[in-house]
Amino acid sequence: MPDDVTVAVEIPWQDIQSRGGRHFRCQFNDPAGEHGNCRFSGLDQALFRVGDDVFCLFHIPENARHPPYIRANNSNQYNVKDYQTFLITAYIGNRVQENKSIDISYIIFNYEFLLDSYTVGSIGCIIFDGSIFSNNAYIRLSNFDTEISFENCVFLKDSIFSETTFRDSVNFDNCKFHGLVDFSGHGDRICTQRMSFRGTKSLSRDKEPRFVDQWFGGRVDFTDSVFHCPPDFHGARLHPGTQFKRTDFRDVKSHAAAACFRMLKMEMARLGDREQQSKFFSLELENRRQDSSEPWWLRFGLLVYKLSCNYGRSFARPIVSTVIIFVFFTIIYMAMLTGTRLTADDFANVLNLSLTQVFQPFVIYRTGDVLEAFTSESRPALLLTALRFIAAIHSVLTLGLFATFIVAIRRRFHMG
Ligand SMILES: [Zn+2]
Repeated sequence: MPDDVTVAVEIPWQDIQSRGGRHFRCQFNDPAGEHGNCRFSGLDQALFRVGDDVFCLFHIPENARHPPYIRANNSNQYNVKDYQTFLITAYIGNRVQENKSIDISYIIFNYEFLLDSYTVGSIGCIIFDGSIFSNNAYIRLSNFDTEISFENCVFLKDSIFSETTFRDSVNFDNCKFHGLVDFSGHGDRICTQRMSFRGTKSLSRDKEPRFVDQWFGGRVDFTDSVFHCPPDFHGARLHPGTQFKRTDFRDVKSHAAAACFRMLKMEMARLGDREQQSKFFSLELENRRQDSSEPWWLRFGLLVYKLSCNYGRSFARPIVSTVIIFVFFTIIYMAMLTGTRLTADDFANVLNLSLTQVFQPFVIYRTGDVLEAFTSESRPALLLTALRFIAAIHSVLTLGLFATFIVAIRRRFHMG
């Protein structure tokens, strides 16, 4: 056993009895309890010592991995897993039967959590907020006709919600998923109301979150959520209100990422959401830019496209780039044409020359007298030829940026 593992040691029942039964209080800070104390402290149930602290059955810290067998107050032997499962299942069963809301918030589930093929009618709400699932959580093949909330939950292992139907809103805001996340469907409508994953973090680096064949009948909100592994939306149908605002896809490089972006791009195109379609198209291009198997010239081209207008998504960037390039070339013209002493006339002439490249591209080749202002002094012919060539490059870059500006404007405002 590694040193950093704390062992939960059961406090013998006689000890609790001899101290009046309620002298030990669970030290878990429970926001749902009275004054922040554990809700279950007053219950006559097994308490555990972990280090110097005492905890109840529902709050044995996640790092106490080897809880011993415990003796419940009817003196039957249970192991912690069975006893915790027994109490939770009995509680849920009772509440469902009485048609009352279920509150199992801020509980530490030390063992696998299992709600397979479970049906819950309209009972108000089910709240798991702030709970920690230390082991796998299976909520599969179930039907919930009631609002359900997992806000701020931590899933330390896999969390499987496959083929579960949510007929009321579901909330996974600010959850942390450390293992596999599976919301796969079966090609039928699965959630019919709002589903929220705002600020949710999917932290696994090798298990792709699965939304395969899921038919989202309600809008899904992934605002500010983070995916360390690209989610798999293969065969999924999204709702027009689906939102990926500021969603952070940490992996843009892998093949799985390419498939994810392509899938979401196509789905957004189907829904007519041009803004998010262009977001996933640009992520797809970013994926190709980082793919070392693509030819260098393509990757270089994509880099230029990215820097100049963020893959056609920014129309401010081409304007800024045009200004930067204008200043850069003006300095070059100045260095080539003016002497050590810069007069106001010289400056005006250079500025005029630079502006001409922006507003009258290539005119420097057509007439040849744009440089007239500078021909009073004798200059080497080679210098003037080089200047014409540099000015032509200036014009080409400016025209290119103008084109990307038009593309970005079109993408932003073009309908249908
Ligand atoms: Zn407790």
